[in-house]
Amino acid sequence: MIDRFNRRIEYVRVSLTDRCNLRCRYCMPESGVTKLAHSEILTYEEVLRVIRLLARLGIKKVRLTGGEPLIRMGIVDLIRSIKNLDGIERVVMTTNGVRLASMAEQLIDAGLDGINLSLDTLDGKIFQAISRRDCFDRVLEGLNKILSLGMRDVKLNCVPLAEINDDVDDLIELIRDRDVKLRFIELMPIGLARDFKGLPLSTLRDRIEQKFGRLMPIDSTEAQAGPAKYFRLNGFVGAIGFIDALEDKFCSTCNRVRLTAEGFLKLCLSAPAGLDVKRLMRGGLDDEQLMLRLSSAIYNKPLEHAFDGAIELNDRRRMYQVGG
Ligand code: SAM
Ligand code: SF4
Repeated sequence: MIDRFNRRIEYVRVSLTDRCNLRCRYCMPESGVTKLAHSEILTYEEVLRVIRLLARLGIKKVRLTGGEPLIRMGIVDLIRSIKNLDGIERVVMTTNGVRLASMAEQLIDAGLDGINLSLDTLDGKIFQAISRRDCFDRVLEGLNKILSLGMRDVKLNCVPLAEINDDVDDLIELIRDRDVKLRFIELMPIGLARDFKGLPLSTLRDRIEQKFGRLMPIDSTEAQAGPAKYFRLNGFVGAIGFIDALEDKFCSTCNRVRLTAEGFLKLCLSAPAGLDVKRLMRGGLDDEQLMLRLSSAIYNKPLEHAFDGAIELNDRRRMYQVGG
């Protein structure tokens, strides 16, 4: 559907859980996390109902995220069911990859179309320092597994933090011979991330060019469909993308909404605005009424994020509660 700023909204990011098996320092505290009770998160029946109605409003692509989506039981069957919904063309996932090696075959068999794997570094010690867990080898195994199974849409997401994982040469070498998109995401000032300094992506681009040569823009519509701007390095099979949410606001082409694990339809990553879909569903709204509420909420999606504005304008939810 089209919102009041003439943007076509066709993508929903669905967070399946606020729980996670890592504790990345910029995302989630080590302890003291109040987990949502099972009764507070949407059941799969409720998730499917919302996606089915969103599909009737023009949503075509679904991304499953979290917390860590692969720790929610029954996700393989959920993927299969979403794939069967009329109007849904692609189901993809963002994962930390810890459970990927053991689940890859089932996920692909269920119809998962693509995976964004979060990988901030290829240095096991730095990985552990950031994520507070000793899981680096398992994540790498997961990556190798999906590539060996022939999954085509594989993207690696790295959030470079100044003086922590700002040496990305190994990650770049990884895509020399692999058809994978390596994306650098600017750290957004959400929750714990405010205590960290993201490496400016303009600095990163300069460093990459000094070491690896010119970054040549890729102009294809497919490559430019999302917020990332993609480039190629001479002699490399994989592409490099940059998502500069702050340096280069892309809100005018935003095509997405988000559904949190507790059933809140978030209209913008930064803004608190949205719709308490769970309350409406559990209050007994029928499909037609619910669809009207969903479409009016989406129509009123905010114009742009307020990460560069006053902190009070921003949502208090943390990244693991929203899903990125
Ligand atoms: N647990 C899964 C994972 O890590 O891929 C999915 C959820 S996680 C919140 C989704 C993505 O958000 C990860 O790639 C993570 O690096 C990114 N992220 C978390 N906090 C961020 C922040 N403040 N700014 C930018 N990206 C962030
Ligand atoms: Fe977990 Fe993903 Fe947040 Fe890391 S970024 S703590 S893996 S939700």
